[in-house]
Amino acid sequence: MRQEIRIVVRNVAIVLAIVAVGLLWSSPGYAFLHWWECDGEPITWDSNPDRLRASDDSFPPGNAFRAALGNVVDRFNRNPSNFNFDLRYDERRVRVGGAQSEVWFTDDPDLHYGYAAMTYPVATCRELRTMDIVFNVNEVWTSGTDQAANEKYGGSAMSFQTVAMHELGHAMGLNHEGDEYNVMGRGREHVHANCSQARAYLGEDASDGAVHLYGANPTAGEDVGVVHWKWLSRVEFGDADFSDHTRTRIHPVSEPIIVWYEDDEPNYLLRNGQTIDVEFTFENNGGSRQAYVAVGFYLSSNDCITDWFDRRIGGFAADLGRNQVWTTTRRITLPDDLEAGGRQYYLGVIVDETDALDEFDESNNATYVARFYINPVPLE
Ligand SMILES: [Zn+2]
Repeated sequence: MRQEIRIVVRNVAIVLAIVAVGLLWSSPGYAFLHWWECDGEPITWDSNPDRLRASDDSFPPGNAFRAALGNVVDRFNRNPSNFNFDLRYDERRVRVGGAQSEVWFTDDPDLHYGYAAMTYPVATCRELRTMDIVFNVNEVWTSGTDQAANEKYGGSAMSFQTVAMHELGHAMGLNHEGDEYNVMGRGREHVHANCSQARAYLGEDASDGAVHLYGANPTAGEDVGVVHWKWLSRVEFGDADFSDHTRTRIHPVSEPIIVWYEDDEPNYLLRNGQTIDVEFTFENNGGSRQAYVAVGFYLSSNDCITDWFDRRIGGFAADLGRNQVWTTTRRITLPDDLEAGGRQYYLGVIVDETDALDEFDESNNATYVARFYINPVPLE
């Protein structure tokens, strides 16, 4: 998926070429943020919430994509800034560059340019006027969150919800971003997975951008989360690079480990009693720092990590500041009583495992890093 921003020229507004400029924040706790600028100032919405109108043809009542779009906007609107979208349905006339911000599916190659989705801003210097989002109807989409359908987990369809979340980031005023694991990079690889579901979310870095552009909402809720994706590299693209992502890993310590992939899922061959470094990405998507968060590591017989059935094998206390995605490894020694051979295990993590924090999203607190099997040949 390649998305890009095009400027729609209107004669009633002075439309300036929106130059994407990355600002480097050297103060601790800040990542690189990207937004659209004019004369050195970010271009933002004046009004809040901004109304977004969904086409009646593309998102009719009862249609799964209508519910999916509503879900994405709901999740977006939990961001800790003062900016929200007010989604309305059943817009009968949509076009790029009109007086309203609209969203629809199109088969017009002059609108989608072969990309999965495009966001078209109309702006004056300093103020966004409208944002139109088009999705390419010829893409193979899945509206839901089943991992099995998702191309990133062995499926064949592109997740509409992850692409829509990325486009909402543009519509808020964010440009692509290459320095950190974030939805404004490769957004389809910015998902929370657990229990066979893969859900789109805005994430810590884009939330940070939202707060920078629109200020912190004093009534914003709190949310911590953990995912099995991480930043991999910076990909050159247009005027602003974006980030490529990859799965977090199990790293060997002294004994080598074997890894192979099935349907894009990593599998590891480990040994009873082996010491390994396990990698996860922690995020604070809420309004304030959480200085003491209980994190536990768990063994599960399936991809659904919970503290009800799964076996706890270690943990640590995390200090999750806001603004910087944190990918880290922790050293774990596996128990020595696991079943060798074909028995399948999953190595998982739960953040806020004691449920001490009241969160606006309690569904993103657990995930797994990978399946593994026990090598019947024991450690020397
Ligand atoms: Zn984009």
